[in-house]
Amino acid sequence: MRQTQILSPTLRQAPADAEAASHQMLVRAGYIRPLASGVYSYLPLGWRVMRQLERIIREEMDRAGAQELHLPALLPAELWKQSGRYGVYGPELIRLQDRHGREFALGPTHEEAIASLIRDEVKSYKRVPLTVYQIQTKYRDERRPRFGLLRGREFLMKDAYSFDIDAEGLDASYRAMFDAYHRIMRRLGLRYRAIEADAGAIGGDGATYEFTALADVGEDTVVSCTACEYAANLERAESGSAARKGAGAKEAGQYGNSPAPERFPTPGMRTIDELASGLGLQPSAFIKTLIYTADGAPVAVLVRGDHEVNEVKVKNCLGAAAVELADEETVAAVSGAPTGFAGPIGLRPDVRVLVDRDVAAMSEGIAGANAADTHVKHVVPGRDIPLDTVGDYRNVIEGEACPHCGDGRLQFHRGIEVGHVFKLGTKYSAALGATVLDPNAREQPLLMGCYGIGVSRLMAAIVEQHHDERGIIWPRAVAPFQVHLIPVAWKDEAQRQAAERLYAQLQQAGISVLLDDREERVGVKLADADLFGMHRKDSHKLFSNRPKDCCPFNPENL
Ligand code: ATP
Ligand code: MG
Repeated sequence: MRQTQILSPTLRQAPADAEAASHQMLVRAGYIRPLASGVYSYLPLGWRVMRQLERIIREEMDRAGAQELHLPALLPAELWKQSGRYGVYGPELIRLQDRHGREFALGPTHEEAIASLIRDEVKSYKRVPLTVYQIQTKYRDERRPRFGLLRGREFLMKDAYSFDIDAEGLDASYRAMFDAYHRIMRRLGLRYRAIEADAGAIGGDGATYEFTALADVGEDTVVSCTACEYAANLERAESGSAARKGAGAKEAGQYGNSPAPERFPTPGMRTIDELASGLGLQPSAFIKTLIYTADGAPVAVLVRGDHEVNEVKVKNCLGAAAVELADEETVAAVSGAPTGFAGPIGLRPDVRVLVDRDVAAMSEGIAGANAADTHVKHVVPGRDIPLDTVGDYRNVIEGEACPHCGDGRLQFHRGIEVGHVFKLGTKYSAALGATVLDPNAREQPLLMGCYGIGVSRLMAAIVEQHHDERGIIWPRAVAPFQVHLIPVAWKDEAQRQAAERLYAQLQQAGISVLLDDREERVGVKLADADLFGMHRKDSHKLFSNRPKDCCPFNPENL
């Protein structure tokens, strides 16, 4: 392809709203252009990269035995009502009506659509295992579309779905996808981790792993062990005390040394920081009490003063659909005190109290007294706080012991979730009636797995990892062209002829080439080439600062 013909408008300046490097560079290099918030057009270079990503993903899906199909993006609301998700998916689901007033949604994901197809077309266990996939545009009205392709409202996803008759089958299908994802990430040249994750809104049971590209701009925190293979996202990572046997289980008589709880004034000291500096103590000396509402019911969560509550863990433990921090009014109603002074002793009796393991393990602590400007000391978990709901309710912190091997420490990285593999079980197949007859002619719901890759997000994630201050540096496997041929003096007849010859030869050899046939100054050509990213990181050094004789090839020899 000739550069005079390709639609690749480059910009010297990044758009003002572009915070992420990938957003800046993809726009500057003319790969993408915004049409609306979180909605992008892909220009020829961007679309060529997308095609490369799709090619690699298709090859690995096919190799894993999955079959490609294509489902509609326009989905009847009825299907989503059958699964129960129409009501709970919330404003992210783009809903619309046809001219007859029938309700539809633009697909953010396709469990319902595929389960309904399989329900109608697969009737016998003999037709499974079956894994299908598609590469398709998805729609999610994200609250905060940002970072360009990293969080769009319209984006490209590869989604695969597996169907099996039993748990062993599901294990094998899941494993095949899991392995394929590793191959894809490696072929794309990504630094990534497969991390344990929370199942979130898609639901289902069993394992879920996120494939996360490491990058500072990432919104996820990847927790990994310095010594073993353990890796999880922050929502999921177990606190090290999980490994400490019997944490919190105190022997009888163990409370003997602590005096009875004693109230004392703490005027205006609402936060742990204010208390710690006001009283000259470490944050870990305090028991922090946070009041939440879980599906409307009040819940108190107790964590040590230096720890943070993990709302996902709380939500999972309660089996609640929604958990959020209670408002001032609720806090006052259940504790009788303003926010900042709630504590475990004397809460309204209907408040469920969840005690983090590390609180249970404290010999004593200082807690809110459920009265304004007052705290209480010598609070002994087990003696003054019932320990029947002890669990892991906190975020892990960097540097703490690994819950698995105990030898290593937990370290944190930022990451971008680029893929996700779930075992869904029968959640959607049962709801939509995707059943088959088993060998004993009994009707069984199929076991499903679902496996997503954000294809457009991947494009941005690769740029996050592969760029320098001059522009993108594509890994060879995904570059829009294999060769960027840049005759630096197009006006020079000999150089032009040599370039044309080489251009023709490379194309004949099946190599994709972008020929810079513009009559531009060399500086402009090289700056654009740096931005486009189809060359080695240090190739500009080949040209040094001497544009006149900078061609590393002798055109006579071509
Ligand atoms: P996130 O937590 O980032 O919102 P998710 O958990 O909602 O993602 P999934 O439902 O697992 O995402 O979707 C599968 C894949 O689709 C994700 O791993 C991600 O790569 C991609 N993806 C999800 N939302 C977006 C988006 N708004 N823009 C681009 N890609 C996305
Ligand atoms: Mg996810």
